[in-house]
Amino acid sequence: MDPQSEYVERLRPPGGRRSSKRDLIVNVFLQQEGHLSADDLVDVVRRDGRKISRATVYRTLQWMVEAGIARKVDFGEGRFRFEHSYRHPRHFHLICKGCNQSSEFLSSDIEGLIEEIAATRGFEARKSVVQIYGTCDACRTGRRGPAHKVTTELLFARDALRIAIATERSGLDFYRRAARLTRDARGRQVFQKLADEEKEHLATLEARYAELLEQDPELESHPTFLFFKGAANGLFAAGAEELSRGVDDRAALKIGIRCERGSHRFFKRYGERFEDSEGKRIFLEFAEEEREHLQLLMREYRALRDRQPKASPEAGTKRTRRASA
Ligand SMILES: [Zn+2]
Ligand SMILES: [Zn+2]
Repeated sequence: MDPQSEYVERLRPPGGRRSSKRDLIVNVFLQQEGHLSADDLVDVVRRDGRKISRATVYRTLQWMVEAGIARKVDFGEGRFRFEHSYRHPRHFHLICKGCNQSSEFLSSDIEGLIEEIAATRGFEARKSVVQIYGTCDACRTGRRGPAHKVTTELLFARDALRIAIATERSGLDFYRRAARLTRDARGRQVFQKLADEEKEHLATLEARYAELLEQDPELESHPTFLFFKGAANGLFAAGAEELSRGVDDRAALKIGIRCERGSHRFFKRYGERFEDSEGKRIFLEFAEEEREHLQLLMREYRALRDRQPKASPEAGTKRTRRASA
């Protein structure tokens, strides 16, 4: 059974009545990308001469919304539109008033800001809607974008991989620098080992990216879906910057720990929020790799501390005091 039929199968309540019409409408709906009005769906369902009443389509749509298969979106047109949520990550919308086309995007920075505002106000946010109205690039310039459509799932996977690759690259740079400046032989080995691992992971991620492009050679011509301004690769870049100012072995390990922890948290927290999809898997797998690196660095930090106890305990106290001031 293909994944989509399996999904539809799972949705049926145990002992629930089989309804071939409903299954058919659900299947047709899941194959659509974009944002359909109820009447658009009626047209698509009836396309092959099927005789299904408007009321049945409406009822099924309502049922899909309640079952969490469909999401209702309101673009201010005086009617609702519907999009499916099967392997379709949640997102925000850009809506063109010229051609009525909408496109999807997501930004970890916007989401972070919403979370921050809600937390400050003690507000429990359930759902946030970001809609940007205006004129799309095609309407503005007369240049048409890529003619064929791709699924948001594929764009999500592409961008998740791009972010993971960028993070891996800056991690590699960080560990190479750390290995060069570490004086302690064992510490140097650890950083070297991590640099080698990052290099290997990087090759795996790049191979996966190439595979994705094979599925659709024009995938790269589609606009960005996921926007990450700071995110995790910024962490390693800042860490590498700190290294270049000259730090001792212990501090280098500490910086590495901070970067890996931040990176792990980011990919895990972000990945967990998505519906099952390739992009989600990429995030969670990457989070797991970062966790392993984090644990390795923490073990090394403790081992180094035992090998090189600090000469003067007062110096340590003073530093702590200053840091907390
Ligand atoms: Zn337009
Ligand atoms: Zn949408």
